[in-house]
Amino acid sequence: TALLEGNFAVITGAASRRGLGKATARLFAEHGATVAILDLDEADAREAAASLGPRHVGMACNVTDLASVRTVMDALVSQWGRIDILVNNAGITQPLKIMEIAPENYDAVLDVNLRGTLYCSQAVIPHMRSRKQGKIVNLSSVSAQRGGGIFGGPHYSAAKAGVLGLTKAMARELAPDNVRVNAICPGFIATDITGGLLTPEKLEEIKAGIPMGRPGTADDVAGCALFLASDLSAYVTGSEVDVNGGSLI
Ligand code: NAD
Repeated sequence: TALLEGNFAVITGAASRRGLGKATARLFAEHGATVAILDLDEADAREAAASLGPRHVGMACNVTDLASVRTVMDALVSQWGRIDILVNNAGITQPLKIMEIAPENYDAVLDVNLRGTLYCSQAVIPHMRSRKQGKIVNLSSVSAQRGGGIFGGPHYSAAKAGVLGLTKAMARELAPDNVRVNAICPGFIATDITGGLLTPEKLEEIKAGIPMGRPGTADDVAGCALFLASDLSAYVTGSEVDVNGGSLI
């Protein structure tokens, strides 16, 4: 059954070929949503949208740039008349240790992961509020919960923990207007980046720490995003949902 029939969804950072945003966009499209894929490069975003089918759109948007975010979201609202779902998926990470974090590293990681989530949410909230419905799904990380992951530095953990705080505060403030806000905390997910950086030994070591014995897939995360974006989760707000194969048990 189509869980998102007639919905308009915006997903940031969704052009990355094997990324979590792209898998989410594909699943949303299969469930009847029309999807706007936003990413840094216009051609990449358009190509990713076209790969989903003719009704979807791809646009360039830098989530750290308030003017860029406002322009794009306003264009989408005037084209579609509404935005039902926002997935704040754009994110970057840097595998640094605490003493290696230079001011520019801190700025870059906090800006994309945390500031971007704020800016994109602020751009859609007035439209969602006025229609008394909306769903925002934020990508946090297991790194926020355990103070570190495989690739993320402390600044990444801080940014993703910030995303959890922002999620809960937005959920509280927007609940009276029937706008739900939740976060997904993926564990170790096999993507191009994670796959490329790992030695076979390192991969075995990681798998040993996952009770389910395998890395997650982008589709595992997309399924959770679909739940949080659909009416199946009608009474769920302010939650952080772990998608990590039991890594925190
Ligand atoms: P990815 O690198 O494949 O995709 C991220 C996308 O964000 C890229 O297409 C990139 O161009 C885009 N992007 C970067 N900066 C941007 C900006 N300023 N404005 C707009 N777009 C920008 O990453 P992924 O593995 O698919 O991760 C997606 C999200 O999930 C991220 O927030 C990441 O931190 C989070 N996450 C991933 C994992 C994992 O194991 N892959 C685990 C936990 C959390």
